[in-house]
This record gives sequence, structure tokens and C-alpha cells, in this order.
Amino acid sequence: MKRRSFIKNTSLGTLGISAFGITAFGIKDSNSKIFALGNNLKVNKERIENRIFELAKFGVDEKGRGYRVAYTKGDIEGRAWFMELMKNAGLEPAIDAGGNIIGKRKGKNGSLKPIAFGSHIDMVPDGGNYDGTLGSISALEVIEILNENNLITEHPLEVLIFANEEGGTIGSMAMAGHLTAEGLRQKSQSGLTHAAGIQAIGGNPDNIQSCIRKKGDLKAFLELHIEQGGILEKEHLQIGVVEGIVGIVHWEVTVQGFANHAGTTPMNMRKDALLAASKFIIAVNEVVNSVKGSQVGTVGKVDVQPGAYNVIPGKVVLGLEIRDLSGDKIELLFAKIKKRALNIAAQTKTNISFERQANESKPALTNKVLQQTINTSAKALGFTTKFMQSGAGHDSQEIAAIAPVAMIFIPSVGGISHSPKEFSTATDMANGANVLLQTILKLDKA
Ligand SMILES: [Zn+2]
Repeated sequence: MKRRSFIKNTSLGTLGISAFGITAFGIKDSNSKIFALGNNLKVNKERIENRIFELAKFGVDEKGRGYRVAYTKGDIEGRAWFMELMKNAGLEPAIDAGGNIIGKRKGKNGSLKPIAFGSHIDMVPDGGNYDGTLGSISALEVIEILNENNLITEHPLEVLIFANEEGGTIGSMAMAGHLTAEGLRQKSQSGLTHAAGIQAIGGNPDNIQSCIRKKGDLKAFLELHIEQGGILEKEHLQIGVVEGIVGIVHWEVTVQGFANHAGTTPMNMRKDALLAASKFIIAVNEVVNSVKGSQVGTVGKVDVQPGAYNVIPGKVVLGLEIRDLSGDKIELLFAKIKKRALNIAAQTKTNISFERQANESKPALTNKVLQQTINTSAKALGFTTKFMQSGAGHDSQEIAAIAPVAMIFIPSVGGISHSPKEFSTATDMANGANVLLQTILKLDKA
């Protein structure tokens, strides 16, 4: 056994070396020297990982947990650190009225629209070190690699670091013109209103309109991000090409029964709201599973009243959520759920009503041409890819309203995110950054 595996390893090793040799010597590129150089450019894996660790030092609370929540001291310090790096890379960073950090690099042709890329560096309380930061640090890495190779793109480039992504994509909303006066008045996780928070990070809430980018201002926006789920890891794939960011709709579901004595009311005379709610939860699961696709549906909230051992539950309030890339599918699933609810109500002698919540987000599709460019770039680098949806919200979904957008996913170990256990390997991060780099160069030539 040992000998066989030794032979296998040796032959594999030899193959690897000779294959590499052929590739290295066999490049006969008819394209320009710059194009060939662009094809061979690789990001600096160590620099990316080191910067992930560096940034993680900002916004740590007294218990050692990550707390780089938007508008707090850690966020402000992390942003200052990041802007210093941008400055060193010649990006001359500026803060727009929404608090977004914008770094620009001139292209050869000033009349072309900029290719933009980036992400966010704020985090949820007790969050992880990769969500948003990977896309931000990799965006800067692209600039550094171009600088080191004296490569000027045709298009101007823009690194966009959005403010307060985790608090509801506030910075990108402002840039897309979707942040309302009402939204500015709302309290953020930091305790400050968004207006005060934006002020604290150098934005200008009184002139928020000035940060709006018009539709067509940008050639494209690209965001590299950790998957935050476990699909790529489970399927042993390296790169996810995001087809879109799911829409999310919430309903408050009220099951009205009748609270009565749990000892003296016979089983056939009850109007048990929790029993009905239980059947409803199972029905939601069955309906969502009954249709082909990647849709998800969840009952994540249950409030039972009055909530006692000896009282038949009289009222239950549930939180229902459905997510999918297609708004029509969300409506279809909800219609089916509603139909099942009617039956359950009749069966259990209860009443089930729905109140659609105002916070819904529409699905945002990424650009098909950009998807293909990402896929081609990844394949050319030898990576395995999958077209997939994003179940989590991102700044890209806001920017989709004003520019063609696309997202690149890399595996999240264990599918864990919004947790200190969030982790992606340095190799996967570099793979993603290389795909980002090559996609930008391809777009630049297109
Ligand atoms: Zn994120």
C-alpha cells in the first residue's frame, strides 16, 4: 500500500512539474505585451491575509470580540487605517456624503466610465473577520498589483468601501439614491441615528443627495465576498458566480384561537392556536420544499399567548420569511402557504391572518455578461465554478439599481458567518482576488 501510494505521488509530482514546465515555456501569446502581462498577474496571498488580520485588530471589545460596528470607534479607526493604505497606493481616498470611502485611479482614457469594485469593512457585533473585509482588501490588492507592474488600465478604476453595510446597506443605499430622510432618522446598532453616524465617519447627512451616482455613471461594480453559506465547501468548488441576491419578504402571521382551561376543556372542544401554528410551520416547510429551486422559507419567530402550562394557547404570532431570486416565485409560494393556512384554520377552528411587513427587499439580479466574464476568468485560472444565488444581502443589490453588478464568492469554512468562527483560507481568498483582478482586466479590454 505504502509503495503504491509512493509511486502514485511520485508520478503525480513529476506530472505536475512537467505540466508546469510546458505551460511556462509554451506561452506563445499573439496579444500585446501588456495583455500577456495582465494575464500573468497574480495577487499577493500573504499581503491579503496579513491585512485581514491587521484590520481585525480594530474594533475589538473588552471581551476580545470583534465589534467594528458601523459608526463606532473601531469602525472609525479601521476606516482611517484603510484610507492610509489607499493613500499609499496612490488612490487619494475621499468620503462622500453617505460616508462611503471612494478611491480613484486614473485610466488611459478619461472619457470611459470607471470600473468600480469593493465591499465594506464594518461588521455585526461579535462578527467575523472576512465578511466585507475580503472584498475591500482584495480591491486594494488589485490596485497594488497594477501599481507594482506599472499597468495603467484604459478605464478609470474606483475602489468603493461602503459605509454601514451590516446596518442595512446604508452607504450603498445613499449612493443609489434610496436612503430617505426617515431612514436617516432611524437608530443604528451603534446607538446613533444613521444621520449622526454618517456625520461621525466623515459623511454629510444634510447633503446626502450629493453622493447619489446616476444610472450609467459606472461601467460595472464587482464585489468579491465570502459565501457565508456552505454550498461551495460541500461541493468542493472554488469560485461561486453569483446570479443575484435574493429578495426577502416578511409576514407577521397571527393565529387566533381561544384561551381556555387546559384541564376542563375536552380535546374536541378546543381552539388551540399553538396546535394550528404548529401545523402551519410544517405546512410552510412542505410548500417551500414542494417546488424546484433554491428558495428558502422559514418561520423564525413564535410568540405564544398567554403561555402557561395550564392554559390552551389563545393566540400565536409567528414570523414568516420567504427568500428567492424571483419575486414571482415568492408570491407563488406565499399563495400556496395561504391556501394551506385556510385549511388548517378550518380544521382547528382558529383564524389565521397575515400582515406583510414594510421592510421587504426586492431581488437584485447580477449582470449576465459580467457573470460570464467572471466565469471565464475563473476557468482560465483553473478554478472550478458554480452559478449560484446569494441568500444574504449585499451592497451590490443597491448598486444594481445604478450599474451592472456582479459578485464573486469563495468558500466559507463550515458555512459559518456573522460569527467569530467565520473563516476562509488564504488560498481561497487569493483565488477570489485573482478572479477579481482578471475580471477587471478583461472588462477593461472589452
Ligand atoms: Zn458583507
